[in-house]
Amino acid sequence: MEYETVIGLEVHAELETQSKMFCACPVVDTTQAAPNSAVCPVCAGMPGTLPVLNQKAVEYGLRVALALECQVAAVSIFARKNYFYPDLPKGYQISQYEQPLARNGRITILTLQGEKVIRIRRVHLEEDAGKLTHVEPTRGDHKGRPYTLVDLNRAGVPLLEIVTEPDFRSGEEVRAYAEALRSLLRYLGVNSGDMQKGVLRIEPNISLRPVVAAGSQPALFGTRVEVKNLNSLRALERAVAYEIQRQAELLEAGKAVKQVTLGWDEAKEATFVQRVKEGEDDYRYFPEPDLPPLTLDEGWIAQVHASLPELPYARFQRLRKQYDLSDYTAKLLIEEKAIADYFEQAVAAEPSVPAKAIANWISGELFSLMNQAGVEAAGLRVQPEALAGLVKIVSQGGINQDTARKVLAEMFASGERADEIVKKRGLQQVTDTEAIARMVKEVLETCPDEVASFLSGKAGVINFLFGQVMKKAQGKANPQIVRRELERQLDAPKR
Ligand code: ADP
Ligand code: ZN
Ligand code: MG
Repeated sequence: MEYETVIGLEVHAELETQSKMFCACPVVDTTQAAPNSAVCPVCAGMPGTLPVLNQKAVEYGLRVALALECQVAAVSIFARKNYFYPDLPKGYQISQYEQPLARNGRITILTLQGEKVIRIRRVHLEEDAGKLTHVEPTRGDHKGRPYTLVDLNRAGVPLLEIVTEPDFRSGEEVRAYAEALRSLLRYLGVNSGDMQKGVLRIEPNISLRPVVAAGSQPALFGTRVEVKNLNSLRALERAVAYEIQRQAELLEAGKAVKQVTLGWDEAKEATFVQRVKEGEDDYRYFPEPDLPPLTLDEGWIAQVHASLPELPYARFQRLRKQYDLSDYTAKLLIEEKAIADYFEQAVAAEPSVPAKAIANWISGELFSLMNQAGVEAAGLRVQPEALAGLVKIVSQGGINQDTARKVLAEMFASGERADEIVKKRGLQQVTDTEAIARMVKEVLETCPDEVASFLSGKAGVINFLFGQVMKKAQGKANPQIVRRELERQLDAPKR
């Protein structure tokens, strides 16, 4: 039997505001700050305290909802989601349930197969819970018993939940969505997208269903599992692939998939059962009596809408068209706003240089230097004008590709300009035909055997001779002229 994969995603994104959702405590980096250093009676759930809504958190949530082209609710309702767990001091999480902030949005994702629209089911505001650290005791520690540490720095941090329709049909689409959403959140300035730190948490719901013959009614959706604890794109991809395989094997063996919540074991690269869901969880949702309905003024919504930056997909389309870039290159450039800006600044600095060439230097050589050195766009020592300057020298034949790569590596390390490096190191390309002709002549004289074998019909030998000439020129000769000159001189004796 052949199966089709069906996946829907639930994403939790922290809204990186200055203060928490319902109190004045700062939002801190929970991987850095001392545990419980950003906690007050409100977020510690003391009796008698009252929540006060952070307007900035609402604004951030609204920006995302609008960027996802959702219908925004004029009135949304906060609700209590009751459950008992040590990371939740109040015994309930303030969330939104029946009347969320926004519904029915969409986002376009880019895969190698092309573009696809993913429907957004809902977007709602809630507060994050604290963080638990489970400790395995070392010998003698804590009477040898395992224990758990509670850090409430994260409790009450504003959180946005974004739920899609079950529109994904492959792991590749899931990854493309994760990339698109992360990029969107970063463009909007509401979330750093750092999955490792847990500020962006992506949970796939995965099921399979039999593929039916073309033209007949598709099968109903199969039973789904939900996977949690994925702290990288790679883990997300692996977990999805693992589940597709596991479920296919179960179904193939005539067994049923159980509806469970799974965790991801990074070391074993396997999912494991975290929680067995038996029907609906009973969260006893009810409207939060301490908060009035959230009413959004139409004028304010319009104002926030107007303040949105050009978003990744729009920029993808514009760059592709305006600079005649491939889908692939345009996607690489727009992923991060700082890089897209860098590209357009470089293009503006040297209008005579083809934008495509600049795009290729950024997405190829510059990205590889950045990856190797672990440097982000903000830490780049090569200014966009300087990169454009380098590409200009190359396109005018001042230096060849090979030399340019070396020059860029030096620019990257020192921040120096291309023309300075070329001058200082005497790297100007030799385009002087006479000088090249002399070098070719010398090489042919010192390699009579190779010349003979070329003339006897071994055409490939010319590459060896070409290499010898380039070596003599210390890599700086114009390769087109060298090749032309070699062909000319090798041809001469035949005539
Ligand atoms: P909850 O997990 O809280 O019960 P929902 O029922 O709304 O929430 O579904 C959560 C996610 O699961 C959504 O993204 C939805 O698209 C997806 N989903 C629902 N049914 C399936 C299914 N059979 N296979 C895969 N994904 C599904
Ligand atoms: Zn607080
Ligand atoms: Mg769920």
